[in-house]
Amino acid sequence: MTPVPPPQRVHAALYARARDAARLWEARPPAERARIVGRASDRLAARVDAVAAVIVDENGKPEVEALGHDLLPSIQHLRTLEDRAAEVLADRPVPLPWMPVRSAVLRRRAHGVVLVVSPWNFPLAIPLAQVASALVAGNAVVLKPSEITPRCADVIGELFPDLPDDLLTIVHGDGAVGAALVDAGPDKIFFTGSLQTGRAVMAAAAQHPVPVSLELGGVDALIVREDADLELAAAAAAWGATCNTGQVCASVERILVHRAVADDFRLRLLHKLLRIEPRTDQGRPTLDRQVAVYRAHVDDARERGLSVDGDGIDGDRLRPTLVSGPGTEDSLAWTDETFGPLVALVPFADDDEAVALHDGVGFGITASVFGRDAEAARALARRLRTGAVSVNDVGATLYGHGELPWGGVGKSGFGRSKGDEGLLEGTWCQVIESARVPGIEPKKPWWYPYESRQRDVIRRFVDVVAARTPAARARALVRMGSSAVAMFTHAPRT
Ligand code: NAD
Repeated sequence: MTPVPPPQRVHAALYARARDAARLWEARPPAERARIVGRASDRLAARVDAVAAVIVDENGKPEVEALGHDLLPSIQHLRTLEDRAAEVLADRPVPLPWMPVRSAVLRRRAHGVVLVVSPWNFPLAIPLAQVASALVAGNAVVLKPSEITPRCADVIGELFPDLPDDLLTIVHGDGAVGAALVDAGPDKIFFTGSLQTGRAVMAAAAQHPVPVSLELGGVDALIVREDADLELAAAAAAWGATCNTGQVCASVERILVHRAVADDFRLRLLHKLLRIEPRTDQGRPTLDRQVAVYRAHVDDARERGLSVDGDGIDGDRLRPTLVSGPGTEDSLAWTDETFGPLVALVPFADDDEAVALHDGVGFGITASVFGRDAEAARALARRLRTGAVSVNDVGATLYGHGELPWGGVGKSGFGRSKGDEGLLEGTWCQVIESARVPGIEPKKPWWYPYESRQRDVIRRFVDVVAARTPAARARALVRMGSSAVAMFTHAPRT
């Protein structure tokens, strides 16, 4: 019987083939790579309804969300990549003012093989965005999609029929398969999933070591300032907290509301939450384990004596639920990700307290600030420790802009997908430095042998570099002496 090789050996062989494919692919101009990858947007556009049906079936979200939250951002992102790739990935000359006879160029080099490990809540948009960015950046990609949504991943595979062999491979399987793929040593990892798994992926990646980008969980907040349009803010909060049944990393899980308007806002929000129609507005929770977390957070709130409004399970739907009352900021609903339609509300006295409450949990993907004074709202937004803030809209909506980077801080992870930064995340920076005029490449005065004259010249050159003004620099150059200036054929222009 032929012994079966362990998965790491199988994956290492897969990576070797993919690395070979990536070498040829990286040599093609970025605009050409972007054009080939971008054709996926036309293929997706040609089968929008069929793909939406697969998402609805596997994930359980309403069709309108499959269209608006998965297909729309995917097509828009692919088109943005086509527009931006040539400029973002272009070589960049860097002047060397202290050595003008030399010149440098910064190049964006592809990592080689990028492993994308993805979740099930946006089973098309998240993996497709990371796969496409990494390909356009010049990499080969191995995608390990969520085991919960394999057919959505197969759709991604079908979007790129004209890529060279081995450039995109989809490996289906559960967490053990993901772990084996990490252990086998890709050149870069894009992980999107829970904080707990992200920690394990980062620890395993450290053994190689390879760079990781982590897009982890969140308990994002919506902040209602005293001057906010309360109807608008309540409508935003109701949608932001419950769409995709709250199974959104940037779901509104916390509401901070100014004390002066807290009661009014709470009633408006409750009214809107109770009017959400479970059959049409809400999808079903994708996994039983999400129901268990929702129940645990509701039970914790009850045990603490907090108000729990609107909770309950209606057939296969979780009812939108609001937790409030003194001590809410210590409850699990406030500190931990529910990933369900549960939102906790805490009043604040001023912006300082809002910032402290917001930042206190240590997560941050997006936030939303509502207020009629847009400049005051932006000023508060700038103080929040989170990846992106939307003023008078729901932060999660920002995922729909392919132009904007997406990613968190703190326990929500690091690294960016989407936007120019997401494209750069698939690259590393290489410096190529050489003589500006070929052939003028003298021996450098700081090479061996060390002589006392060299020491003196270098010492004075430190003063030249440290000089703050042209006059001070001229004096330092004079002190260096003409012979030293001659030695330093690269002396700075003053
Ligand atoms: P998860 O961590 O359970 O799984 C994510 C992926 O990792 C899956 O493909 C899984 O098979 C794989 N995996 C599991 N164990 C692994 C291991 N040891 N090594 C390598 N891979 C492993 O998360 P999930 O339940 O699929 O997704 C929900 C979580 O994802 C939530 O916390 C949510 O907030 C987060 N999320 C974050 C973002 C973001 O942009 N920050 C977006 C979507 C989801």
